[in-house]
Order: sequence, then structure tokens, then C-alpha cells
Amino acid sequence: MMNKKLVMIPGPTPTVRSITDQMGRETVAFGDPSFVKDFKELIINLKKLLKVDGECFVVAGTGTLAMEMAVSNVTKRGDNILIVSNGFFGDRFIDICERKGLNVDVLSAPWGEVVSPETIEKKLKEKNYAAMTVSHVDTATGARAPIQEIGKVAKKFPETIYIVDGVAATAGEREYVDDYGIDILFTASQKAFGVAPGLLILWAGQKALARRKALGTIPEYYIDFEKWIPIMNDPSKYFATPAVNMIWALKESVRMINEEGIEARYDRHISVSDSINEAIEALGFTILAKNENRCSTLSNILYPEGVNDIEFRKVLADEGVMVAGGLAAYAGKMFRLGHMGNIDDHTVYSTIAAIERTLIKLGYKYEKGIGLKTLLEKK
Ligand code: PMP
Repeated sequence: MMNKKLVMIPGPTPTVRSITDQMGRETVAFGDPSFVKDFKELIINLKKLLKVDGECFVVAGTGTLAMEMAVSNVTKRGDNILIVSNGFFGDRFIDICERKGLNVDVLSAPWGEVVSPETIEKKLKEKNYAAMTVSHVDTATGARAPIQEIGKVAKKFPETIYIVDGVAATAGEREYVDDYGIDILFTASQKAFGVAPGLLILWAGQKALARRKALGTIPEYYIDFEKWIPIMNDPSKYFATPAVNMIWALKESVRMINEEGIEARYDRHISVSDSINEAIEALGFTILAKNENRCSTLSNILYPEGVNDIEFRKVLADEGVMVAGGLAAYAGKMFRLGHMGNIDDHTVYSTIAAIERTLIKLGYKYEKGIGLKTLLEKK
């Protein structure tokens, strides 16, 4: 019999039965009063969850579309934009913004590190930036940007819209939109919400909404805030067909988050990630990001001498755990392990046990059982 595979890549994340049940429901008309009510409740709850006095958009698409949506609604051709990049996904904004005819300035950190709020403040003083983008967690490095401190800096620059990419963070790492001075935050359904891929979720505060209004007509159609605002406030209206079953699935995810409590959820992510990282280090691996800026949603793990990437990931997959490879300069040197969303203890133990079995199968010399022992001691 084929082994069940745990999806321990940094998204999609494992889906629980009550969420997949919603995806498997018989689809109804998007004008069905029961669906309209569900959609409306979802938007209200999402706004409460991350505390925004503004709008929340739930639109079919992925995180990359949300990146475009964020930039498109607050900038126009010829504007200056500052991209704060801590890795591969931060860099993705460069191409998006250059294609839009924006003047792009980039601040980047070596992989595993983050650009400091002081450096950002100095840069923002140089010219008038229409917007600034920061990735909360760059999935390629596992480093977490200090978005709250950057928010304090951003408040000093009223002309600049502060955009946070929360794709590998939101619903797993502490984030509050208005309290942190964030103007736009976005994520995608397949990450810490624990839903399958298919939805983008974007929160926009009053400053971002005012900027959108001031721009007049924008070239983009599907991702225009102005097109979606009437729908998000009254889902009985039509602009483009909502992803009915995905919206139900997200609603179930938010129900689960509220049942757990968002603060408890953030704490759980920290304790799961601390346990996994300690166990992994006990097995002889190294975590790329340093403790002080290490995220709690995923781990980017460097191999010890003598462990081959392709072999390791193949045997680990045979043992029932899928992980992702390293990107760019880290291809072949690291693997990426997601642990965000609805991860339970059973999954954590199974993952570490599968890594141990893999090391044994590869004939790697290490203290047998040390991974599980470390997990148990952390409990
Ligand atoms: N930003 C970050 C930080 C990401 O991790 C990802 C995807 N891994 C994206 C953006 C792009 O999201 P998607 O693959 O859903 O388009």
C-alpha cells in the first residue's frame, strides 16, 4: 500500500478534514442567500481577525496575484517604489513593479538576514516613495522582517503606502494591520490558513483605500479594489464569479482559528517551530536564519556534510514526508520544511521520525533517537 504523504512544504500546507469537506460540498449559485450570508460573515470575521478598519478582499487567485493587486491599486506609472527584499519572493516585486513602469529602488539583505528599520528609514528620506513593499517571511530564507518596527518608521512617511507580503506568515506569525501601521497586507489560502491553493486574501486600510480613489481609473480590471469593494460589502452583487467552495473552506479555517484563538495560534506556531528546530539541530543540521530573525512558520535547513539533497528528499518522500528544495544559490544545499497552519503534534513527531528513518537509510552517522528525544524534552 502506498504511504500517505505529509505535505510539509512551505505551502500548500496539510488540510484538515473539516476544511476539505467544505471544498467537496455540492456547489450552489453564488446568489444563493445561504452562500451570500456565509461570504459576508467571512469578510467581517477576516477584518476582525487582523484588525483593520478598511476592507478585506477574498478573490480567486494566488499570492502572486495579490502582489500585483497590492501594487496596482496604490501606484501609477512613473511613481517611485521601495522594495525591501530579504530573498527570492521579495525580489519577485522587482519584476512586477518594473513591468508596471515604476521607478524601483531595492534594499536587500543577505539570505537569512533582514534589512533593518534604520536602513529603511534612511532610504525613505532620500525621495518621495509612493509605496514600499516588505515580505514578512521570505519563504526562500525563513528570515522574518521586523514588520512592527518598520511600521513605526513607515508612519513618519505619510505619502508612502506600506505593503506587507504575508503569504508565508499571515495566520501563523503575529500581525495586526492597523496596530502595526500596515496599509496593505495579503496572503494566499494555501499557507497558514490551511486551505488548498486558489484564493488570495488582502486587507487594505483607510490610507490605501484613499490612495486607490485618488488614482482614478487604473489599467488593471480584475484586481481593481473599486470593482470588488461593492461585492465584499454585499456579496449578493456580481462582479466576477466568486470561488464558492473555496470561500466556504476559508470560512471553516477562520472558524477554527477563532476557536483556537489567534494569539494561542501564534504561540503554538512558536512552540512547534522551536521544537522542530531544536530536534533538527540535534540531528546535525543547521537552520539558515539566526535565532533573532527566525520565523515560526517554516524552517530552511542546511544539510550537514555527507548528506546529498536529491537522495535525502527522495528517501524522505518514500518515508511519507514531502519537503521542498532550496532556491537559487541554496539549491542542493538546503531543504525547506513548512510547519504553518493546522499542524498537530502527531504531524511534528511523524516528520522528525521520518527524517530520522531517512538518515538511517542513508547510512548517516548520528545519535539515533536524538530527534524524538529532543521533541519529548521540549514538551
Ligand atoms: N510571497 C511569498 C512570501 C511566498 O512564499 C509566495 C509563494 N511561496 C508568494 C509570494 C507567491 O505566492 P503564490 O505561489 O501563491 O503565487
